[in-house]
Amino acid sequence: MKAIRIHEPGDITVLRYEDTDVPEPGVGQVRVRLHAAGINHRDIWVRQGNFGHPAEPVIPGSDGAGEVDAIGAGVTRWSVGQKVVVNPGLSCGACPACLSGNQPACRMFRIFDGTYAEYVVVPEENLAAMPGGLTFAEAASIGIPYVTAEDFLIRAQALPGQTMLLWGATGGLGLATLQLAKLRGMRVIAVTRSQHRSEKLRQYGADEVLVFNPGEDVADAVMGLTQGRGADIVVDSIGRDSFPQSLSATARGGVIVTVGSTTGGQVTFELGQLFRSRITLLGAFMGSASILPRILPLFSRGLLVPVIDNTYPLEQADQAHDQMEHHGVFGKIILTM
Ligand SMILES: [Zn+2]
Repeated sequence: MKAIRIHEPGDITVLRYEDTDVPEPGVGQVRVRLHAAGINHRDIWVRQGNFGHPAEPVIPGSDGAGEVDAIGAGVTRWSVGQKVVVNPGLSCGACPACLSGNQPACRMFRIFDGTYAEYVVVPEENLAAMPGGLTFAEAASIGIPYVTAEDFLIRAQALPGQTMLLWGATGGLGLATLQLAKLRGMRVIAVTRSQHRSEKLRQYGADEVLVFNPGEDVADAVMGLTQGRGADIVVDSIGRDSFPQSLSATARGGVIVTVGSTTGGQVTFELGQLFRSRITLLGAFMGSASILPRILPLFSRGLLVPVIDNTYPLEQADQAHDQMEHHGVFGKIILTM
């Protein structure tokens, strides 16, 4: 089969399009003929070696959609030909966290890699049925962003009428968060770096759009938009460049969700700002396994809309990463195969 493999960490040139063996499904495993893979920021970190540098070549990619191609011994949930979406969280399945449905709290929890390929083998519990009315590219765009966003909105106890400040609103995670927050009846103040994307953000439900340039005071603008209260929930995937403002923009008793650090993870802040305002700092990373099968039907019903910025053939994964890293996105970038 054709696959993108990384032999050593580095820039986009290490994404090699090459032949490798079609994987065989073992006991309890399913082989999927993939038709689309969704690109996440995580894939860039895998490429750069941020999660270590295994001896074997790595096939990146966690989100994907396709058709069941073969099943291993003991598989009961799936049959050949079914259309499926990969649910990319792996965990032990036996500890108290797993048994209570909170898989990301499992000590063995990790995110699966391997969807930049024509075929992938996954445990049968790591698939969800693909709902009708979606293309493979759309189905592959949902996994990590929507599961992550839905999980942290539940943990942050998001309520109708609350105000959210959303950094990085035009990325895959940002647009997933925006849609899920609007579905909950929240008011969303979206932040983007580019003026020309603000109208599109409003089309997807943003109530207010702030265009952020370095040195600009987003917190001040949020205070102006909330009668001096601040936002009930602040979603920050930016890190160093945004976190001090996130802290200043959060309402008393509010929640800051930290879900990434695209500008760096080292931040300095005055703890008193946190405890005196009774602010909760909530770390978010993926979500429970039950979320994906639960939200997929919302796409069929039109309550959620997959947003795809661009589609590349598998062999152009390097170009896709280049766009993601250097040219900005509105929604997801998808590889097709
Ligand atoms: Zn476990």
